[in-house]
Amino acid sequence: MNLKNNLTLGIESTAHTWSVGIVEFSGKVLSLVNDMFIPEKGGIHPILVKEQHLSNFMQIINKALDDASISIKEIDLIAFSKSPGLGPILKIGAHVARMLSQLLGIPIVAVNHCIAHIEIGRFLSKIEDPLTLYVSGGNTIVSAYESGRYQIFGETLDIPIGNLIDSFARDVGIPHPGGPKVEALARESDNYLHLPYVVKGMDLSFSGLYSAAKRLIESKDYENKYTLYDVANSLQETAFAMLTEVTERALAHTGKSEILLTGGVAANKRLQEMIKYISREHAVRFEVVPLKYAGDNGAMIAWTGILRYKSIGGNNISETQINPKERMDQITIPWRS
Ligand code: AMP
Ligand code: MG
Repeated sequence: MNLKNNLTLGIESTAHTWSVGIVEFSGKVLSLVNDMFIPEKGGIHPILVKEQHLSNFMQIINKALDDASISIKEIDLIAFSKSPGLGPILKIGAHVARMLSQLLGIPIVAVNHCIAHIEIGRFLSKIEDPLTLYVSGGNTIVSAYESGRYQIFGETLDIPIGNLIDSFARDVGIPHPGGPKVEALARESDNYLHLPYVVKGMDLSFSGLYSAAKRLIESKDYENKYTLYDVANSLQETAFAMLTEVTERALAHTGKSEILLTGGVAANKRLQEMIKYISREHAVRFEVVPLKYAGDNGAMIAWTGILRYKSIGGNNISETQINPKERMDQITIPWRS
């Protein structure tokens, strides 16, 4: 295959966001366009998200092409997120990617979304071999590269951290995504109310914390003895301390000399401060993925597709089926061995 322009179109479609990024093989991002589903009430309903993505996908692709000032015929490679995520939503990305690949007669790469979060961070932060804390609406993972794979050293046993914060926010009437607003509320208080802190081995559990925070805002003492600011502060302090403890232990275990913070929750200044603190204590480098690329985005999918393509080529069509539950530690990483 003669790749004339070295251009990749990456499609992200695992959950709330349909995103298209156009990236050169060098890693230069030419365009990135996101279409995020925002529920009017409640959580992320897969059927409603699917409807939005199906209605808008071509418009977003065209906008990304326009922004990059290229035509679709100039694209050399298609990359898409095949795992993990919500089945009905993953399928849209996979179908569109397979269709484009066959229509244009160009190779396709199926990408694991969690690995893409790490790879875009390594690339943009110019960091070689980090311990990664990946915190988002759908994932909470402490990972590092070892023995050919991104091994998982710690993870949530129930709900992800972003989901914890968004669910709490929803209960107090804050629209989705609640993270930034909860962060702002928490900044107004130094009052700590006891909440369950659950670290089991290297894994975390946030569901008891969620229930306890909910009980605090339903209690008769709420707004008499403490405020929403206090509850938001206590929720963040507890959850982030749990994340920090597990990250610190994984750091000691793996002996890595860099920490990378990524995923949508990486935007949180208090979490950044806590992880920065342990980085200093252990004299390791600390980087946060540039916020434009911290949440779900098509550029990270394109870039990870490029890494794989450059090392061992594209995937066969038979390898492009979605896998909603695939763990990143099941995948060997040819471009790092
Ligand atoms: P992602 O799933 O990676 O696209 O990230 C979305 C998640 O990041 C949602 O759960 C948001 O509430 C969360 N988030 C965004 N900004 C912040 C913030 N400043 N603090 C905490 N969580 C945040
Ligand atoms: Mg994500």
